[in-house]
Amino acid sequence: MSRVYNFSAGPAVLPEEVLQEAADEMLDYRGCGMSVMEMSHRSKVYEGIIQDAEADLRSILSIPQNYKVLFLQGGAHQQFAMIPMNLMKNKVADYIVTGQWAKKAYQEAQIFGKANKIASSEDKTFSYIPDCSDLPISPDADYVYICENNTIYGTKFKTLPNTKGKTLVSDVSSCFLSEPMDISKYGLVYGGVQKNIGPAGVVIVIIREDLITEDTLPGTPTMLKYKTHADANSLYNTPPAYGIYICGKVFKWIQKMGGLDAMKKLNEEKAAILYNFLDESELFKGTVRKEDRSLMNVPFITGNEELDAKFVKESKAAGFENLKGHRSVGGMRASIYNAMPIEGVKALVEFMKKFELENK
Ligand SMILES: *Cc1c(COP(=O)(O)O)cnc(C)c1O
Repeated sequence: MSRVYNFSAGPAVLPEEVLQEAADEMLDYRGCGMSVMEMSHRSKVYEGIIQDAEADLRSILSIPQNYKVLFLQGGAHQQFAMIPMNLMKNKVADYIVTGQWAKKAYQEAQIFGKANKIASSEDKTFSYIPDCSDLPISPDADYVYICENNTIYGTKFKTLPNTKGKTLVSDVSSCFLSEPMDISKYGLVYGGVQKNIGPAGVVIVIIREDLITEDTLPGTPTMLKYKTHADANSLYNTPPAYGIYICGKVFKWIQKMGGLDAMKKLNEEKAAILYNFLDESELFKGTVRKEDRSLMNVPFITGNEELDAKFVKESKAAGFENLKGHRSVGGMRASIYNAMPIEGVKALVEFMKKFELENK
């Protein structure tokens, strides 16, 4: 067996010991005589798996009692619609557009009501986070929406926007569980798990209970009401059962690693290795304003497209996978999620140094 260093933005690297444990339990989950994939989601055993996963997530994030945790499907994209369908009581919402994902959410919300773009960083290819300390928040806005970590562009909100009392909704897909966060500052936090937590097919929604109501937009399907899933503890219909089981293992792994404070420290250490090199290099440079740099997604360029392509090709041959930047921006991007070992980042920087020497 040989595993590569996988810098994919998502689906992405998972902790090797989680994969190994899942492999060991594949044919016979703890004496059940069957795989988790084969068991009823209504069985006692599966109930234990999903309840443990929720309890561990609650403990890792210190989720307050008045928030529900939902394990849903449809990816982050489905939330782009579910959020307005459930929260747009006045049919008005404010969006801060800091990348493609926030833009898509903003566009989707326009189907359901008046979505206002109250700030954007599109003027400089989303390479920074705009000042959000005093934005023109709409008086009747039902919520203010952000994408907290911009996977494609490598920016992250280091301070949350001043919503002037409005409910904050945040897409945390690519920074979920990378560092501590104060859930009580948000009305709704969600993320597709395939970036930093588990396999594709699960999206986790953490929502304050008062936002879960019957009063959704007319025509909202049963499956797209938060209330449906909250009332059924995420077991209204068949959930993405196997994916939730893997998420549960990753939660245990995070606890074993020391929780989110330890995760943050390790992520800062990893990111610093790469950013420090980018700041010193004469060939490579980062594309993001320094104070807005993400700990998770690190885009960089040489300034020469041919050289970028050569780098991607040679890095792949050397065992570094998925370093090509998003198709919309080009260049390179190293996603260094929780499960990327520090050795992987060090090896990448060594490889970049060598490439720089050979291509100066
Ligand atoms: C990947 C990603 C999405 C899209 O996720 P899907 O699960 O494919 O819908 C949305 N937002 C962010 C921040 C992402 O990183």
